[in-house]
Amino acid sequence: MALRVGVIGGGQLARMMIAPAVEIGIDLRVLAEEEGMSAQLAATAVGDYRDLDAVRAFVRDVDVVTFDHEHVPQDVLRALVADGVAVHPGPDALQFAQDKLVMRARLAELGIPQPDWAAVRDADELRAFLDAHGGRGVVKTPRGGYDGKGVRVVRAGSEADDWFATLGDGEALLVEELVSFVRELAQQVARRPGGEVVAYPVVETVQRDGVCAEVLAPAPGAPQRLAQMAEGIGRTIAEGLGVTGMLAVELFETDDERILVNELAMRPHNSGHWTQDGAVTSQFEQHLRAVADLPLGDTSPRAPWSVMVNILGGPAEGTLEDRFSAAMSDQPAAKIHTYGKAPRPGRKVGHVNVAGDDLDDAVYIARAAAAHFA
Ligand code: ADP
Repeated sequence: MALRVGVIGGGQLARMMIAPAVEIGIDLRVLAEEEGMSAQLAATAVGDYRDLDAVRAFVRDVDVVTFDHEHVPQDVLRALVADGVAVHPGPDALQFAQDKLVMRARLAELGIPQPDWAAVRDADELRAFLDAHGGRGVVKTPRGGYDGKGVRVVRAGSEADDWFATLGDGEALLVEELVSFVRELAQQVARRPGGEVVAYPVVETVQRDGVCAEVLAPAPGAPQRLAQMAEGIGRTIAEGLGVTGMLAVELFETDDERILVNELAMRPHNSGHWTQDGAVTSQFEQHLRAVADLPLGDTSPRAPWSVMVNILGGPAEGTLEDRFSAAMSDQPAAKIHTYGKAPRPGRKVGHVNVAGDDLDDAVYIARAAAAHFA
């Protein structure tokens, strides 16, 4: 009987696991939040991932549980583990992707380079940090942020009062130094429960309005030393935190050639979508292999350069289907991926991958295809 992998969460990451699951003979099942989710095709149940009974009912018929997102509460995860369910990544690892303060403290213990940071409970503590860091800082809500929500650049201790007001007993905000980075990078690795780790080449990620817009793989002009440093950081974190499955480490490259860890994702990640068409093993297949404890696949690029451009829902007229078909006809070398989601302004509804020998050509083709949606 095929190995059954259950994915909690029905978004596009779960959706993009479906094709590789079919290819390598995994029986993929999805617990979707509602009907009509991106991963509808494999959704065998609809339920609330915060509801232990709903999650227990879903996992009864699977061999391994993994995730489309990091929001399943710790008490639900720990109850599953106590039931004897194989959960990858497990709660001990996932806590570091769920809470940025917990992550900062653990990375400090591991000696991983990261921005200066502090846990602050009120405006006075924030002010003291800002005074010691040139009068500026980045305040973050430790939990629940995504796509730049829950991140604020501040210049005064009072600029986070609305967030301080929401804190419960014993809770704090994270403040970080405002890093003047030259660009953002991402390092992905995959780790099996037994410890085998493989690494993808470090990539450059370009953000617009707090959302990933483009990815260039490998990171153009990255000296070997930098690439090795990024890979070393990825491996140390995967091992030190006991991550199973895919791990993405978002990084800042500074003008003095240091790299600092911004944040972690323990699942396939937007920075790795290029691997679908640009690497021997895509991050989605790799994630399935890793969580199912199968031998990991080759991470080598298939072409010298790969480019990924996200497609966001925009004001464009006509149906999304028309746009996809126009993009396909205009740019046959572009690999177009759709998420089956209703287009709302700013919402990720798909992406374009192009792999080739020439970086400028690949960028041109990918942007030209994506421009049909703008
Ligand atoms: P999210 O969890 O919403 O993705 P991040 O922590 O990744 O939030 O921050 C979103 C963006 O804000 C980053 O991609 C980066 O551009 C910017 N940013 C975050 N932290 C810092 C920092 N310490 N210094 C400078 N810019 C930052």
